[in-house]
Amino acid sequence: MKTIGLLGGMSWESTIAYYRIINRVIGARLGGLHSARIVLYSVEFAAIEEMQRAGRWTEAGVVLADAARRLEGAGAECLVICANTMHKVAPAVEDAITIPLLHIADATAARILAAGLRTVGLLGTRYTMEMDFYRRRLAERFGLTVLTPEKADREAAHQIIFEELCRGVVREESRATYRRIVENLASAGAAGIVSGCTEIGMLLGPDDVPLPLFDTAAIHAEEAALWALGERGGH
Ligand code: GLU
Repeated sequence: MKTIGLLGGMSWESTIAYYRIINRVIGARLGGLHSARIVLYSVEFAAIEEMQRAGRWTEAGVVLADAARRLEGAGAECLVICANTMHKVAPAVEDAITIPLLHIADATAARILAAGLRTVGLLGTRYTMEMDFYRRRLAERFGLTVLTPEKADREAAHQIIFEELCRGVVREESRATYRRIVENLASAGAAGIVSGCTEIGMLLGPDDVPLPLFDTAAIHAEEAALWALGERGGH
């Protein structure tokens, strides 16, 4: 079994889910007391969030590249950035390491295609929904059509992530807001929904929405575990 490098803390609430899911998958596959080999580097999220808000992406890339290098130095054999938004700086991170980066959008797209869907609605931070680093990857590499919520809905989705979910707060009203946004995306033609923020799983489960839901944190963590077991390419 290979060692997984988790670059987490963005926010730490969702990094916990990665840790749990990866260990559950390894335990289910190997049985008994088997668990994952993991090295974790957890960042100080306030500093990262400030860089995001100020558009200081190059600087954020330097910080994450440094963390990734440390993970490789500590024995990680692959790198998992436990967030969607910070894949904005994935190229800078990849340039800093020699181990493979398991991209969250690639793992998610593979599941969407396997489910036979081509048009999905994307929920996430404002950066993930509005910038093109994520949507373009889904469209160009995987041929997916990606719909995003209208402006007011994007603002609401973004605010709930930073004001609530990243602080461990889960509110029923916010679940209703997300449900309404999903209904709007379904009316616009979405056949599935990408929970394109790793904290959304705290709020929205498959039973909360009428469409197939692709929880990026769960998918990414499961794929990392399978990679560590040699059940995925890139070794
Ligand atoms: N975890 C988040 C994501 O998946 C949002 C927090 C952040 O901005 O990094 O995009």
